Amino acid sequence: MSEMLQDMVAIVTGGSRGIGREICLTLAEAGADIVINFIDDEDEAKDLVREINELGRKAVLVEGSVAEAATAQTLVETAIENFGRVDILVNNAGITRDNLMLRLKEEDWDAVLNTNLKGIYLCSKAVLKTMMKQHFGRIINIASVVGLTGNAGQANYAAAKAGVIGLTKSLAREVASRQVLVNAVAPGYIETKMTENLPQAIKDDLMQRIPLNRLGKPKDVANVVAFLASPAASYITGQTIVVDGGMVMQ
Ligand code: NDP
Repeated sequence: MSEMLQDMVAIVTGGSRGIGREICLTLAEAGADIVINFIDDEDEAKDLVREINELGRKAVLVEGSVAEAATAQTLVETAIENFGRVDILVNNAGITRDNLMLRLKEEDWDAVLNTNLKGIYLCSKAVLKTMMKQHFGRIINIASVVGLTGNAGQANYAAAKAGVIGLTKSLAREVASRQVLVNAVAPGYIETKMTENLPQAIKDDLMQRIPLNRLGKPKDVANVVAFLASPAASYITGQTIVVDGGMVMQ
C-alpha cells in the first residue's frame, strides 16, 4: 500500500476516532495529506494530526457536523486553501440511536438520517465541482451490512445505510464520465466505541455467525478504503464492498 496515494489530498469525515481514525492513518501511510473532520473530541483529533505529521504527511482539522452544509463547504475550502486540490472524500461520520420502531423517537430518526445520509449528500455535493473539474476523484462511503440485511432495533440506521448504498450507485452513474469513482464499504462488526457497549450475548451470537471467527478491526476497513482510493481500483465504481469476515454472503 505504501506510497500508492503519493501527494493526494483526502477529506475524512468523523476522522477523530474508530474506523475514521484508522482510515486517516492508512491514507497518510500511503502518501496522502488529510483534512480531518470531527465534532466533539478536539484532543483526540489533535493527537491524530501529530501522528500523521510523524508519518511525514500534513493534516488539518475541521470541527463541525456533517449534517450542516456549512461544514461540508468548509471542508472543501480548507483542502483547497492548504493543499490546492481534493482527490479523495471518505464519508465515514456516523452515529447510532437504536430502538425498536414502537419506541423510536422522531428526534433519533432525524439525528441518524441527518448524520449518516444527509451528511453524505452534503459533503459529496460540496466536493463534486472540484473533482469534476480535475477529471479525477474518489468518493468512498462507509455504509454497513445492516443496510443490506436490516436489523431489529436499527430501522433508522438501516434505512440510512441502505440509502447510502442507493446514493452511491446513483452518483457513480452521474459522474463516471469525469473519472470520479464512487463506491461504498459495508463493514460488519468492527471493534470501536460504537460497538463496545453491545451486550456480551449479542457479541457471542455475532461471533457464531462470522466464518472468519473474529471480530473486525478498524484496519480491516481502512485497507479496503485505501485500495478503493488507489490507482489499482480505477475500474471499480458503484460497488459496495462488504468487509465482515464472511458474515453476510450474497
Ligand atoms: P465511532 O463512534 O467510533 O466514531 C464516529 C466518528 O464520527 C467520530 O469521529 C465522531 O466524532 C464522528 N461523528 C459523529 N457524528 C458526527 C457528525 N454529525 N459530524 C461529523 N462527525 C461526526 O464510530 P465507528 O468508527 O465505529 O464508525 C465509523 C463509521 O463506520 C460509521 O459510519 C458507522 O456507521 C460505520 N460502521 C461501523 C461499524 C462498527 O461495527 N463499528 C459497522 C458498520 C458500519 P467525535 O469523536 O468528535 O464525536
